[in-house]
Amino acid sequence: MPGPGYAFIDDSERDNVLEVLSYWREHRLDFDNPGNAGMVRRFEDAAAARFGVPHCVPVNSGTSALLAALAGLGIGPGDEVIVPGYMFVASIGAVVYSGATPVLAEIDESLTLDPADVRTRITPRTKAIMAVHMLGAPSDMAALRALADEHSLALLEDNAQATGGSYRGELLGTIGAAGAFSLNPFKVVTGMDGGFLLTRDPRLFQRAHSFHDQGWFPYRQETGEGEPVFGLNLRMSELNAAVALAQLAKLDTVLERTRAVKRSLLEQIPERAGMRRRRLHDADGECGTLTVFVFDSAAAAAAVAEHIGCKPLIDSPKHYYGGLPALAALGRGERGPFPFRVPGDLDTARDYGKGALPQTDDMLARSVALSTGVSDSYLGAGNGLGPSATPQDVERVADEFNTAVSKVLG
Ligand SMILES: *Cc1c(COP(=O)(O)O)cnc(C)c1O
Repeated sequence: MPGPGYAFIDDSERDNVLEVLSYWREHRLDFDNPGNAGMVRRFEDAAAARFGVPHCVPVNSGTSALLAALAGLGIGPGDEVIVPGYMFVASIGAVVYSGATPVLAEIDESLTLDPADVRTRITPRTKAIMAVHMLGAPSDMAALRALADEHSLALLEDNAQATGGSYRGELLGTIGAAGAFSLNPFKVVTGMDGGFLLTRDPRLFQRAHSFHDQGWFPYRQETGEGEPVFGLNLRMSELNAAVALAQLAKLDTVLERTRAVKRSLLEQIPERAGMRRRRLHDADGECGTLTVFVFDSAAAAAAVAEHIGCKPLIDSPKHYYGGLPALAALGRGERGPFPFRVPGDLDTARDYGKGALPQTDDMLARSVALSTGVSDSYLGAGNGLGPSATPQDVERVADEFNTAVSKVLG
């Protein structure tokens, strides 16, 4: 079970899928009836209502949601976007493909973007700050919002890992100018793949919508409010929407479960000298999908990880800037990793290599994750507990972990 939503798949997903197969002639691209209420349109309305925003653009992945958000914001060559050094490669990849320059910033003790460090990275070319709510928990949104407002920057939320999470009562993905969500199988709820973008800004919505559907104005109109843009096809499919629609209705149930599993695990793994829990900016708002322990030393973290058969977070493939060879090559001025030839210079010549963010390196090297809902070895959490964990399972995992910690810390 990769993400917790999977465990909740039942007849509601199946019925929706079968409904799609029965109405294939009237799929979403029914040109005579723009905006007909197929599954994608129903998902779009349901997601906008669930998150309390006026606009949703369903897309085929979280990566596409990020790209559409950047298109919606009009970000491109010459612009800089600040991203945390702990993210998913797509957070940076989307910036690279927009033609803008990703600027790395440190993470704080919550393993999300450090506002104090972000401040030092702002230049006259900075256009946006991308907060990535890693491992189900919110970034320091009050500080990031204040910083963005102070410098007139767009605040973009990569909320692929924290669907349904909140920060001081506000839903993640609805706080910034745009929020990007993923529905891939490793996320809180799934469409088997897919994603969506939320925004309150009608102009951003129109541009992102046109971008995701070949430049059409929203709902396949030839003209509309706003401006024409070149688009691509990043559309969500009816089949993915069928699954995602049913899963969205279960979001609260899924989160209740992951949070309960995490609570019971934490009750059995106390903090102690040399080891504490990951600091959270809003413990009530986090999704409970992963549980992270931070050790005083990297050696202790590595030893505990080895005992339980995982790796410290610094060894998470595709999630740590220092483990992205294509990014480092781009930073050295090589154009090989960027498959398109672009007019002018991408202006990415800068140090993206391991060691560029010492605070991030230090935090990640000292952190070890257990699954309490999302099981993903790429996130350093290939083991732990799934949503159907029994009290005996929780006890076993806690025992294993506590035994490993005692061996290492004494
Ligand atoms: C999963 C993920 C994405 C990309 O989502 P896809 O649907 O796989 O394209 C982007 N950012 C983060 C932080 C993610 O975890």
